[in-house]
Amino acid sequence: MTGFIDLCARSGIEYIENAPLSEYLTFRVGGPCRVMVFPDNADKIIEVLDYLRSSRIKYYIIGKGSNLLCADSGYDGVIINTSKYDSLCVIDNHILCSSGISLSRVCRAALDNGLTGLECEYGIPGSVGGAVYMNAGAYGGEIKDTVCAVTHITAGGELETIHQYELDFGYRHSFYSDKDLFILKAEFALKKGDPDEIRNKMDDLLSRRKAKQPIELPSAGSTFKRPEG
Ligand SMILES: Cc1cc2nc3c(=O)[nH]c(=O)nc-3n(C[C@H](O)[C@H](O)[C@H](O)COP(=O)(O)OP(=O)(O)OC[C@H]3O[C@@H](n4cnc5c(N)ncnc54)[C@H](O)[C@@H]3O)c2cc1C
Repeated sequence: MTGFIDLCARSGIEYIENAPLSEYLTFRVGGPCRVMVFPDNADKIIEVLDYLRSSRIKYYIIGKGSNLLCADSGYDGVIINTSKYDSLCVIDNHILCSSGISLSRVCRAALDNGLTGLECEYGIPGSVGGAVYMNAGAYGGEIKDTVCAVTHITAGGELETIHQYELDFGYRHSFYSDKDLFILKAEFALKKGDPDEIRNKMDDLLSRRKAKQPIELPSAGSTFKRPEG
């Protein structure tokens, strides 16, 4: 692991040794990982992945940690935490963002630009990467309704962009479920809407969520899938 820590120090990649996972997961349980890294741009992510893969060091990606449970014994490898990789830009009706940004920030950017389509996702406590990974959704809307393209890093370290029809979205499932690919960026295609209507719907859904979910407390989140029908 010394070589990996040297690489982080050399490349200006923030890292913490023996980071307690309980502080990064909404469950608030989980022992330490060997190293947690916080790359803040795509080049650093590629550098980290290249090193870990070629050195055969075990690693795992986390976003906001709202759909993960870790053992008290911890994780004997590197955790790549995407939370510092969080940029966003709006071009016409499209929002392009990096995978570590919170879904709620993307929803607020949509509201600020009078764009509709993401209201149902407002309040889901995950990152864009985590939401694409499992096609997060609530109140009748899902990520699949608005994501038009996703860029990932392949197992060979190449960048690849795939489009909505290739993303294999299903109920809490996507092309990425159980694959060793790093989701780098996502693009949302939205529609012009009435800002007051967008805000009212977001406020309504958030207050319904708050009435049912004590999100300031340790939480297992949405543990169960709805059965068919
Ligand atoms: C209080 C609460 C309420 C919730 N409500 C809902 C809800 O209404 N609807 C819903 O669908 N879910 C809900 N969830 C679950 C959770 O918020 C979603 O599953 C969310 O999409 C997880 O995102 P995350 O960033 O926290 O992912 P994490 O928990 O960090 O990771 C989940 C999985 O995604 C993978 N992953 C994350 N980022 C990347 C990346 N960049 N590239 C590749 N893989 C990646 C991880 O490796 C892991 O396998 C809730 C959770 C809580 C705690």
